[in-house]
Amino acid sequence: MNLIEQIDQWSRKTPGRNAHISDGQTLTYAELTQRSNALAESLSKQLPADHSPIAVQGHKEPEMLIAFLGIVKSGHPYIPLDSSLPSQRVETILETAKAAMLLTPDQVKELVKPSQADPSTHSIHHPAPEDAWYIIFTSGSTGEPKGVVITCGCLESFIHWISCEHDFAEGAETFLNQAPFSFDLSVMDLYASLVSGGTLFSLTKDMIADPKRLFQVLRHSEISCWVSTPSFAQFCLTEPAFKEQMIPQVKKFWFCGETLAPEVAGSLLERFPKAEVWNTYGPTEATVATTSIRITQEIIKRYSPLPVGKPKPDCEIHILENGADVKSGERGEIVIAGPNVSAGYIHRPDLTERAFYQVNHMRAYRTGDLGHYQDGYLFFDGRMDFQIKLHGYRIEIGDIENNLHALTSVRDAVVIPIMKNNKADYLAAFVVLKERMNKSDFEITRTLKRELGGRLPDYMIPRKFIFVEQFPMTHNGKADRRKLAEGLK
Ligand code: AMP
Repeated sequence: MNLIEQIDQWSRKTPGRNAHISDGQTLTYAELTQRSNALAESLSKQLPADHSPIAVQGHKEPEMLIAFLGIVKSGHPYIPLDSSLPSQRVETILETAKAAMLLTPDQVKELVKPSQADPSTHSIHHPAPEDAWYIIFTSGSTGEPKGVVITCGCLESFIHWISCEHDFAEGAETFLNQAPFSFDLSVMDLYASLVSGGTLFSLTKDMIADPKRLFQVLRHSEISCWVSTPSFAQFCLTEPAFKEQMIPQVKKFWFCGETLAPEVAGSLLERFPKAEVWNTYGPTEATVATTSIRITQEIIKRYSPLPVGKPKPDCEIHILENGADVKSGERGEIVIAGPNVSAGYIHRPDLTERAFYQVNHMRAYRTGDLGHYQDGYLFFDGRMDFQIKLHGYRIEIGDIENNLHALTSVRDAVVIPIMKNNKADYLAAFVVLKERMNKSDFEITRTLKRELGGRLPDYMIPRKFIFVEQFPMTHNGKADRRKLAEGLK
């Protein structure tokens, strides 16, 4: 069965089951199939069959799911854009992608209005493995957005892996959808849910901005599979009632997109004793995640920072330094090779050529991430472009953060270089403490500096420590480094 058939089968097996719940709106599997077929038919009539992408801008409306499937069924890839995106950015994306059109949830509603006849299914396009399924725009380091083309083959490889690893109960799971659809973390919950006949339970940005409402919503969500950034879970953990009694059905937590602090994983295991915690790692360019590991108390005791796991079986991870594999255990750039690696950046052959190449007859991607292997597990050691020079010393910001995470009183930490005249002037550490203790900031700073001094050279110890209850989050749910830095100006 191809992906379209895997999803559409639920409209026959469990037509009345909710495929999506979002802020009181529901969409059943029967409605999802019927409306996405209708949209496909309408789009096929309007547009040439040239595989040009179609953008869809909204938030968590059920029409987003209808649009994603309808666009693919019409023979085009979709570009998910969140409603929070400024119009200038949307313009740049549409131009870069040479998008055929931009749809909104209201337009989707119009296009799928029940017609007299059921849409014919013979016009439904079933993408070939090399056909683009979606294109997600990430921010390039130059500030120009890059459109990562994910083919049907990439997505199938990813979904096959997580379905085998997790053996979802068919037609019985509820997946948390925290990330906006424009962030590829959402692909994990969206498609894991749709292929297993599950229910996708979306949180809107308004809910997330209102903790009282958020926890009320979670209480009634019946979520069994939690997918979010670690920052979002860290934020939820600030609420003492966030524990098993609040969401008794939760059996798994999956994380991706940023470092999972041992303390966050440990707190979740304590508060949700029946649930598993998984750390996964990967860039958008390799379809959501490429490595995974179940984080147990034993793993937490043994490793700090936590490992990001082992590669999925159909792909290879290489650690390279100056183009050659490093010796076992040494640090280098993480290169991912396999069927989940993207076709490249849309209409940017220059950028594609720089980042993608062939390894052992597989498509490979240079991640720009540093990593090393230990005991067969991959460890993420920070971004190569988070490498700074401070007073002549070469420093990996990720290295300092990992060592801060390892201190017993630290729940989470983010380190930011403070710039002066375009040069790093000093380092500031933003720290969430496990408990405030009855000490002044000055005393806590002194203790942390002393503890860190036992693990790192002096020039890597942040000058300033700022204690916060939680980090501001980007729209994607990652710690917002820019906002933290701005707070210091
Ligand atoms: P994105 O393409 O937005 O998903 O961001 C991908 C980047 O997030 C990766 O290249 C890493 O730098 C970082 N990342 C993803 N997963 C993890 C993880 N489990 N631990 C630490 N960093 C991660």
